[in-house]
Amino acid sequence: MSTPKKVVLLGATGSIGDSTLKVIRKHSDKIELIGISAHSQADKLFKIAKEFNVQHACLSQAPHEKINPPGKTQFHIGQQSIIELAALEEADVVVVAVVGSIGLLPTLAALRAGKQVVLANKESLVVGGQLVTETAQKYGGKIIPADSEHNAAFQCIQGQPDRSLQSVILTASGGPFRDLPINQFADITIEQALNHPNWSMGKKITVDSATMANKGLELIEARWLFDLTPDQLEVVIHPTSIVHAIVRFVDGCCIAQMTPPSMTFALQNAILFPERHEGVEESLDFSKSLDLEFSPPSLERYPCLRLAQEAMLQGATAPLVFNAANEIAVDSFLRNRIGFLDISHIIENTLNKSDLISTTSIDDLLALDASTRECANIQVDLLG
Ligand code: NDP
Ligand code: MG
Repeated sequence: MSTPKKVVLLGATGSIGDSTLKVIRKHSDKIELIGISAHSQADKLFKIAKEFNVQHACLSQAPHEKINPPGKTQFHIGQQSIIELAALEEADVVVVAVVGSIGLLPTLAALRAGKQVVLANKESLVVGGQLVTETAQKYGGKIIPADSEHNAAFQCIQGQPDRSLQSVILTASGGPFRDLPINQFADITIEQALNHPNWSMGKKITVDSATMANKGLELIEARWLFDLTPDQLEVVIHPTSIVHAIVRFVDGCCIAQMTPPSMTFALQNAILFPERHEGVEESLDFSKSLDLEFSPPSLERYPCLRLAQEAMLQGATAPLVFNAANEIAVDSFLRNRIGFLDISHIIENTLNKSDLISTTSIDDLLALDASTRECANIQVDLLG
């Protein structure tokens, strides 16, 4: 039997963290969890540390009171500790499952250390796609996509000849407002936006799915992961979330990947790649009828998707601006400071006010990320 893969899990207390832990429990003979991180949920972090007997646990935000980690676990505090954990010498695989552009620095650190990076955090590729992919190439790090659509496309292209890929088609459920009359969008509440029909996820990505900003971010993510031009990327509404992506080849053949809507399938595939073993959950049941409907998305219904597509076409730092403005707008919506429709208005205004540059300097990217957030926050204040 081969030695278990040593895994670091950043964002262990989140939704992707939960699904990753299910995969690790199922395959405890093949995967050893050696490091975990969270932002503020110390109790949950330590519970995980205790269950898996992990060596390192990091909390990016300093706790208010003194806390004691369990057993042999070494406890570290601060954002820098997460970046160091991402490059931990003993680690083979680093799962990046933190939310937001905060994922960029740990992703770069892991790639610079030559790790296999299981990437759920799409924001890091949207913000620094060129830098991230160049860093992977330069230092021998490997990115295996964990986002379900991208992991699906990744599976479909394995073993196919070079230059045979024509386009990647990402599916989207359309979220909870797929059929809501557009004149009712102004009254959408936080609770309604968080009620996703198919997937159980963290709050930020659930709102992103309702606006379809998520699919926009995923187009940009796919552009970097598979080295594609914008015209090689398509989005299709598929309400049941059974087919996750379809790859179209130059000969016209399309290959799709299918599972029930749960992240354990993609995460297990990415962590154990290139091996396949029994899954955590039941596969699809073809003895019952399955609904495989596909239709094009309406850009009038989903202005955030249109804005992301435009940012992708513009290139340079437009995707970074799209992402930073979206993070501020979604956070403000979740704090009840702005309405649902304001999310796309804030993104559009911020994009219009931003000077775009072409850069792969991490300092430039972080500075622009910070100034874009300020610009978006000013617009939130004006609305509030
Ligand atoms: P959650 O909000 O559920 O979890 C986020 C995790 O990141 C938590 O562990 C949280 O810690 C930690 N975190 C939050 N803020 C910071 C910070 N400033 N610094 C360091 N760590 C932080 O998010 P999800 O699990 O839903 O999503 C994680 C990522 O995966 C996102 O980029 C998302 O787009 C992507 N993704 C998610 C999918 C899903 O099904 N959920 C599907 C595909 C991609 P704490 O708990 O202490 O706050
Ligand atoms: Mg996805």
